[in-house]
Amino acid sequence: RAKSAGRNAARLFLPHMQRDADARLELERGLRTALERQEFSLRFQPQVDMRGRPVGAEALLRWKHPRLGEVSPATFIPVAEETGLIHALGAWVIAEVCNHVREWRRLGMDFGGRIAVNVSPWQIAHPQFVPNIEAQVKAAGIEPSALTLELTESALLNDFDTALRTLHQLSAIGFRLALDDFGTGYSSLAYLQQLPLDELKIDRTFISALQPAITDPLAGFIVDIGRRLGMTTIAEGVETRQQRIMLETLGCDIVQGYFISLPLTADDFQRWMTRHATASEVAVISDF
Ligand code: C2E
Ligand code: MG
Ligand code: MG
Ligand code: MG
Repeated sequence: RAKSAGRNAARLFLPHMQRDADARLELERGLRTALERQEFSLRFQPQVDMRGRPVGAEALLRWKHPRLGEVSPATFIPVAEETGLIHALGAWVIAEVCNHVREWRRLGMDFGGRIAVNVSPWQIAHPQFVPNIEAQVKAAGIEPSALTLELTESALLNDFDTALRTLHQLSAIGFRLALDDFGTGYSSLAYLQQLPLDELKIDRTFISALQPAITDPLAGFIVDIGRRLGMTTIAEGVETRQQRIMLETLGCDIVQGYFISLPLTADDFQRWMTRHATASEVAVISDF
């Protein structure tokens, strides 16, 4: 960086840069011990179809730092990636999700749904990722199709051929694959067609563009792409009834967002599922 900035570039080190570096170091140090100190937990955000029936949930990671409090995954995931901690952390998330799914099954929870797990590009690129995750679901005694792995387009950009091979292996084992935050990355439609994807998640920015009296063509365009390629389409970040109705009109299959439910603790999610599985469809819809 310093070199490419040129010999004459001024190298100022300002007080706020020191603070940033300190904060980053504290995060990094905290992350290294967070797993053993059991500071991580998961939330589960329900996903429902257009008739309001629960189809599953997305697992979202939470970190409670002893001094800083709740740190957003948007802040700590990049640090975990840069330090290589993402592999252990990602494995913990998968193990935790497997345990919850097994427990929910044991309790007889009507669990036709699947749990979506966010997977970092760094995890996908690791040569042991496929055998490890396969061993994890086997050890937990659940079938791979109970999990949907959410990938972002950045997982594909570095080494497309290797990523493609990995995705085909995961798909052949039975994992479902979703492309997360679709529409914000750079992958071409030609690439998209080659990927063994089951689901396309429309990024929140296109959903929040759906306002009364505003006709934003992009959400509908993305739903069409997904449908034409034979994928299930999911809208993330659905916050209003209006947006849900517009998405139904556009032909979107599944919705997720604050309008349906906040991300819930495992216990609350279990109660939510029980309540919604037994409620009549009409009641579920008016619940929105
Ligand atoms: P994402 O996978 O796109 O997850 C959706 C994010 O939108 C979540 O933020 C969720 O809490 C938030 N959200 C859900 N509904 C709404 C809504 O109606 N309105 C708004 N404004 N936001 C909504 P969160 O939990 O802070 O996670 C941020 C990102 O961190 C995730 O984006 C994902 O990329 C990453 N992440 C979370 N958990 C994990 C994990 O276990 N592993 C990895 N590698 N990344 C994770
Ligand atoms: Mg996601
Ligand atoms: Mg997303
Ligand atoms: Mg997103």
